[in-house]
Amino acid sequence: MLMANQKFRVGVLGLQGSVIEHIQALHELGATPVEVKLSKHLEDLDGLIIPGGESTTMYKLAHAFDVFEALKTFVHSGRAVYGSCAGMIMLADHILDGIEGQETLGGLDVTVRRNAFGRQVDSAASHVNPGEFGGDTPLPAVFIRAPWVESVGSKVQVLATWQQTPESSPRAVAVRQGSLLATSFHPEVTSDRRVHRYFLDMVADYVQ
Ligand code: GLN
Repeated sequence: MLMANQKFRVGVLGLQGSVIEHIQALHELGATPVEVKLSKHLEDLDGLIIPGGESTTMYKLAHAFDVFEALKTFVHSGRAVYGSCAGMIMLADHILDGIEGQETLGGLDVTVRRNAFGRQVDSAASHVNPGEFGGDTPLPAVFIRAPWVESVGSKVQVLATWQQTPESSPRAVAVRQGSLLATSFHPEVTSDRRVHRYFLDMVADYVQ
């Protein structure tokens, strides 16, 4: 493992979505963000973030920019990858309520339901228990037409759950499987850096 203060080169998939926000979070934590649009931008990266946005557009653009297969190779390479919201959908092995033919990069043994929280939470600013993300205060969690994790494989760890209303069932909204991390919510649009810090610790652990 390398020293935590090393300047990791962390890519942010820059086709669409909350790209600037993730770049800003990485800057704040002393990492070196690299905007990824083409497969050559994935060279020499220590980790990668797939931002929130719109997964149906993202996978189409990834094909249009001819970067889809290279992204898939990266995700399965053992380096750390974090997907927020649409990024979670991109990392899921299985999706529900996708559009016809929608492909994902896969890697996370989960089934994710798109737009699962429904219209009431097209947008909701809430909090989740921070758990392994650390700290004593609730973690801000912004949901924007967010997916939830419907089921997880045996190697997947659920890091956070959220109850939309006191009557509704708790749903998994942050999961990890080895080098892959995904959240239904968008920490990049808040000023709380616990999720990004947790991810950079993963980068340190999985850098090759
Ligand atoms: N609903 C979007 C999708 O399916 C995700 C929304 C988001 O990333 N905020 O990709």
